[in-house]
Amino acid sequence: MMIYADNAATTKMTKTAINAMLPYMDITYGNPSSLHSAGQRAAEALADARQTVADILGCAAREIYFTSGGSESDNQAILSAAEAGAKKNKRHIISTSIEHHAVLHTLNKLEKQGFEITLLDAHENGIVRPDELEKAIRPDTALVTVMYANNEIGTVQPVRELGRICREHGVIFHTDAVQAVGHIKINVADENIDMLSLSAHKFGGPKGIGALYVKRGITLTSIIEGGAQERGKRAGTENVPAIMGMAAALKESYDMIDEACSKLIPMRDRLIEGILKIPHSILNGDRYERLPGNVNVCFEGIEGESLLLILDSKGICASSGSACTSGSLDPSHVLLAIGRPHEVAHGSLRLSLSHENTEEEIEYMIENIAWTVSYLRSMSPVWRDLEEGRKEHVIQ
Ligand SMILES: *Cc1c(COP(=O)(O)O)cnc(C)c1O
Repeated sequence: MMIYADNAATTKMTKTAINAMLPYMDITYGNPSSLHSAGQRAAEALADARQTVADILGCAAREIYFTSGGSESDNQAILSAAEAGAKKNKRHIISTSIEHHAVLHTLNKLEKQGFEITLLDAHENGIVRPDELEKAIRPDTALVTVMYANNEIGTVQPVRELGRICREHGVIFHTDAVQAVGHIKINVADENIDMLSLSAHKFGGPKGIGALYVKRGITLTSIIEGGAQERGKRAGTENVPAIMGMAAALKESYDMIDEACSKLIPMRDRLIEGILKIPHSILNGDRYERLPGNVNVCFEGIEGESLLLILDSKGICASSGSACTSGSLDPSHVLLAIGRPHEVAHGSLRLSLSHENTEEEIEYMIENIAWTVSYLRSMSPVWRDLEEGRKEHVIQ
């Protein structure tokens, strides 16, 4: 048996997405830049895929740029806005302390080049406050970049409101919507979004492909030089099969968002309820403003890594936070940012569900997580100190 509960790290490709890709590997395999008919058929397919993505996001096809994924989209969006800002002597960027490293590390790079970065507080519930954004905006603010939904704790930000504030102040607003696209209905026009990053492998599409929406009138700079693909903004022969798979997966997930949510939310809520019965455990991120499939909890007196290994031996694929931090011993920057102490942040568990999970799997996970937590605690000297009163519990 295998229960896959790590859909925030990546998702299984859907059959629809796989089937959409296949003809572009050995039948319509031309290079879209070629003038002959084989190339032109690929170019037409590419145009259709671009239109599909645009229709779903509520923008024009010419505002969609295909990239290699979420990381590249984030890098290009931020570097472009920074470069445009610098030309007008604007070198201030606002973001949050809970962004993905694709955003935070790009901002670190810009900081070394003389940009000033303000990171908004995400507070204990993992949500930024629009009035704090408004206060942080300055005449020299070139960009605001706030993720749509957090990849670790699943919190969904008040994007429409944040976008409205940016628009009022004439500041470019980018959102890393990699965790949200395909899971939440998003309309870039209604939500005042200027730039948006998405990645196919988070919604049933292939890995290594993504897109960046850039509102008309905003200058995009290329970070990969070469050919004139993507309106001259992203060189390299288009990954036609992956793009077709992404468009098909996006359409499919979008068409079933309501159905998926009505299955996911009760499973998520049951999982949260069951896990929080474990003594000295706490939910990370707002109870309601969170992704339909996200559960993230901390257990006191537990090493997240040990928990994951035992759960894996019981057939449960989970995560301690983001796939990027696993393997390093640093606790998650997101959990620290929402105020979890180091020792508590180390004992985190993220379960990210898909609509393919079942109620039986949820019950199996609750049972086995409870067993594993008490098993690990029974062997832990830290736990003994807590139980025998030599140390104070941080989580009640
Ligand atoms: C996965 C993820 C990314 C990176 O996307 P890739 O396509 O894997 O490069 C960026 N931001 C968030 C919020 C993510 O969850």
